[in-house]
Amino acid sequence: MPEQRINLGLIGWPLDHSLSPRIHQAALQELGLAGRYCLYAIEPNHIQDVAILDLLEHVAAGEIDGLNVTLPYKQTVVPLLAALTPSAECIGAVNTIYMENGLLTGDNTDAAGFQNDLQQLPVEKHTPALLLGAGGAARAVLFSLLKAGYSVGVAARNLLQAQELAHSFNAIANTPVEVLPLEKNALSQISRKIGLLVNATPLGMSPDTETCPWPEDLALPLHACVYDLVYNPVDTLLVRRACQAGLPARSGLGMLVEQAALAFERWTGYTAPRAVMRQAVQDACEPRIRQTSQRKIK
Ligand code: NAP
Repeated sequence: MPEQRINLGLIGWPLDHSLSPRIHQAALQELGLAGRYCLYAIEPNHIQDVAILDLLEHVAAGEIDGLNVTLPYKQTVVPLLAALTPSAECIGAVNTIYMENGLLTGDNTDAAGFQNDLQQLPVEKHTPALLLGAGGAARAVLFSLLKAGYSVGVAARNLLQAQELAHSFNAIANTPVEVLPLEKNALSQISRKIGLLVNATPLGMSPDTETCPWPEDLALPLHACVYDLVYNPVDTLLVRRACQAGLPARSGLGMLVEQAALAFERWTGYTAPRAVMRQAVQDACEPRIRQTSQRKIK
C-alpha cells in the first residue's frame, strides 16, 4: 500500500515571512509522517474568492487534509464553510479548516492557543485585563479572556473599531467591556487597576523592534503580568521593559506554537510535538536573547 501523505497549507497574503511551514514540517518530520505544508498566497482582488473556493474544494475532496488561514482572509472564509466550531462562530473568524462529519469546518485555534499559553504566567484569576489593539488577533484574545471570566478593557487608537469589537462580545461579557484611547492620559488613569496587560497591536514587531504599544514615559502597571502577542523578536521591547520592571512577561511565541499544535492535532489526530515545533520557530526568530521573564511580582 502506498504511504499516506498529509497535505497541509496556509491561505493568506502576503506569506513571504510565514513561520507556519517550519512549525508544521518539523511536526510531520518528528512523527515520521510523510507530507508537506504549502503556502497558498492569494492576492486580494476581485477573484480572490474563486481561488479560495478552489482550495476549499480540495479539502472537501480529501486532497488537502487541512488549511490554516491568516490575514486578510480569517473573516472572508467564514461564509464559505459549512460548519463552525462554537469559538469560531462567536469570534467570527477562522484560522483552521478541515473536514469533520463530512462538513467543511472552520475553527479558531488562536483563542485556545492564547488561553493555553497564558497559563504560563502567574495571572491572578479574574484580575482586570487591558487589551491593546482592536484588530483580528484582539478578537480572539478578547473572546478568550471573557470566556475565562476576566473583566476586560480595550485600548485602541481607532475608538470606533474598539467599540465595535466590545459590542460584538456583549453577550458573553459578565461586565461590559470598557473602551479607551491608546493614549498616555487614559492609560495612566487605569494603570493601577490592571492585573494583566495584553498587546495585540503589531508594535514591536520586526523590523520595527524599538517600538512599544505602552507609552515610553509611562511606567508599566505596577502589579500586572504582561503578554505580548508579537513573537518576532522573541524579546520585544514591551517584554524587555516588563522584565526590567520585575513583571512576569511572555511574548507570543508560545501562542504561535500552541495555535499551530491545536490545528495540527485537528488535522492529523496525533499529539503535536510542541517542543520540536517551538524549537523550529525559535531558530527563525530574532534576536538571539530568547529568555522570557518568569519572575514573580515583587
Ligand atoms: P490587525 O488585524 O492588523 O490589527 C492590528 C491592531 O493594532 C489594530 O487595532 C490596529 O489599529 C492596531 N495598530 C496597528 N498599528 C498601530 C500603531 N502604530 N499604534 C496603535 N495601534 C496600532 O493585526 P492582527 O492580526 O490583530 O495582529 C496583531 C499582532 O498580533 C501582529 O503583530 C501579529 O503578528 C500578532 N499575532 C500573533 C499571534 C501569535 O500566535 N502569537 C497570532 C495572531 C497575531 P488600526 O486599525 O488603527 O490600524
